[in-house]
Amino acid sequence: MKILVINCGSSSIKYKLYSSDSDKPLDKGLIEKIGEKGSAVKNHSQGVRKLVSGLLGRKVISRLDEIETIGHRVVHGGEAFREPRLINPQVIKKIRECSKLAPLHNPANLAGIIGCRKLFPRIPQVAVFDTAFYQDMPKAAYIYAIPQSYYKKYKVRKYGFHGTSHQFVAKQASKILKKPLTKLKLITCHLGNGCSITAIDQGRAVDTSMGFTPLEGLVMGTRCGDIDVAAVFYIMEKEKLAISEMDQILNKQSGLLGVSGLSNDFRLIRKAMAKGSQRAKLAYEIFIHRIKKYIGAYLFILKGADAVCFTGGIGENTPKLIEDFRQSTLRFLGSKTKILVIPTDEELMIAHLACGLINKPQNKKRKIK
Ligand code: ADP
Repeated sequence: MKILVINCGSSSIKYKLYSSDSDKPLDKGLIEKIGEKGSAVKNHSQGVRKLVSGLLGRKVISRLDEIETIGHRVVHGGEAFREPRLINPQVIKKIRECSKLAPLHNPANLAGIIGCRKLFPRIPQVAVFDTAFYQDMPKAAYIYAIPQSYYKKYKVRKYGFHGTSHQFVAKQASKILKKPLTKLKLITCHLGNGCSITAIDQGRAVDTSMGFTPLEGLVMGTRCGDIDVAAVFYIMEKEKLAISEMDQILNKQSGLLGVSGLSNDFRLIRKAMAKGSQRAKLAYEIFIHRIKKYIGAYLFILKGADAVCFTGGIGENTPKLIEDFRQSTLRFLGSKTKILVIPTDEELMIAHLACGLINKPQNKKRKIK
């Protein structure tokens, strides 16, 4: 079985093609500048067509019907989706409803889904949600301490993101530790441009650092993470800023970039630090301090952990950072808690989840609507 995994951004489509008998992709690529001025690719439907003609042209596949399943990354599943779902008109309607919670992401994800359904009307397609892994968290972890009418009216709560990555890393940790997930307590740290930490008890996410949006929690490349909201009101008042301007500052101009004044790129922060930049050093120290704070909190919530796992561009490529965490862990927790570096692979996880769903006996018989 060949499985195409699609991850649509507002102006791009990232894809990987897998065969069900291997974890190595047969092909991968990126279609960019969709809908941009001067681009030949006007919309996501055209993008999907370009992607597929590339696969045919390079003879990765010889016929369209070699692709038997398509897995789509969908950023926000709200409270409607607790697990991957076969796409049908009702699922599309619900994904559309979740767009108000993720206006930058879900419409692009949907455009990819609709483009694929046009080109592959008979192939089962599966939506895999970044938020689904967190739908089992206890209420104490996801309800904000604000009047509950806002949760009831507008669904304002912690959702959590990067779920597919944390789930993949947890599965890999279980293989490495040779113990089933049901017997493990794990803290998974996804440190890329976006950063998040999740506490996982027996395979179930029990808390996570990102919130109603990906802004909450750790310091990231350009996001501030946790901040006193009163400080935000104060800055808005002083600088006479509109909501959209403040949103831009907190999401795009803060984090490593905001503190260092140099870059959101962790490599450049470390280089500048080595050359003596005090601002880069401060950015680095705030970044690490926040990670430690969350790990400490989650160790307490989980009552210890079998492993703390690091992934993402920063987590996978900064041995010095990992060694520091290893030394601190050894000192305070002993050798029972392992420090693991596990490369993430969200597309492979989506392929596995899509394949798993399609192969359920009830779905094998189901007619695709
Ligand atoms: P995304 O969240 O967009 O998928 P990545 O997981 O690729 O991003 O992570 C990007 C971050 O990883 C950047 O801050 C980058 O500097 C950092 N990074 C990537 N490669 C390295 C490396 N070899 N050493 C240190 N940091 C790295």
